[in-house]
Amino acid sequence: AEKTDKSSKPPVIVCFSGLDPTGGAGIQADIEAIKANDGHCASLITSLTVQNTHNVKRLEPVNTQLLAEQTDVLLSDIQPNGFKLGVLGSSENAALVADTIKQFPHCPVVLDPVLAAGGGTALATIQLIEVIKHQLLPLTTICTPNTIELQQLTSKQSINQAAQLLLEQGTKAVLATGGHLLDSANTIQHQLFTSNQPAQTLFSPRLPGEFHGSGCTLASALATQLALQKPINSACQQALDFTYQSLLNAVQIGSGQLIPTRR
Ligand code: PLP
Repeated sequence: AEKTDKSSKPPVIVCFSGLDPTGGAGIQADIEAIKANDGHCASLITSLTVQNTHNVKRLEPVNTQLLAEQTDVLLSDIQPNGFKLGVLGSSENAALVADTIKQFPHCPVVLDPVLAAGGGTALATIQLIEVIKHQLLPLTTICTPNTIELQQLTSKQSINQAAQLLLEQGTKAVLATGGHLLDSANTIQHQLFTSNQPAQTLFSPRLPGEFHGSGCTLASALATQLALQKPINSACQQALDFTYQSLLNAVQIGSGQLIPTRR
């Protein structure tokens, strides 16, 4: 029998991300996480990377003209329901992303400010960080920095002060993820900041091991939940739970960091 029910179209999340050949992070993480959360990922690749499960050796931004053409043609046809921004590759590509998402003010935008790989390699230049702060944050629904990224973006030591600064720069919410804080043994504490409510603490059980692509998994699951019209608090909790499950079932594909299983 043929199935032609076009009314059950999944929400379309347009992802601006890098390609990680290991399949752990970047666009492949986005595709898998969005699919598992009942969305459809449309992929705009901002950069290619040279890496394995140990570290990123090199990042090569995609030509901005090509990315602009892909974006134009895609969005002349497909109506997005949300955006997820990961590795952007260059300040020029990031400026193009800002110009693009401006045209869809009704869409939730999740900004994962990826500044460095787990192994330490920088994935953003100073110029790119400037575009993130001044052009992208004002268009962002929720920004999902870890504590290292928070400090790098704001030069503030306190999570609270750093998050407030990002809110002042225009993002409607900040989910400060606590995976890099080693103060609590069994649980990870995350904090959700919005401008009109007191900060809320969310929890995930802590797992042993190092993972490749946990941030991408979280941000993409969150973008899908928001596109499905979930309120921000429950969208965050659901995305954190999904990420925990993905890490719990992670697999050793290479000899370095584990790769999440997103299903
Ligand atoms: N995107 C790409 C293309 C990457 O290579 C990386 C890290 O290596 C990331 C995103 C961020 O990964 P994570 O989700 O582990 O922070």
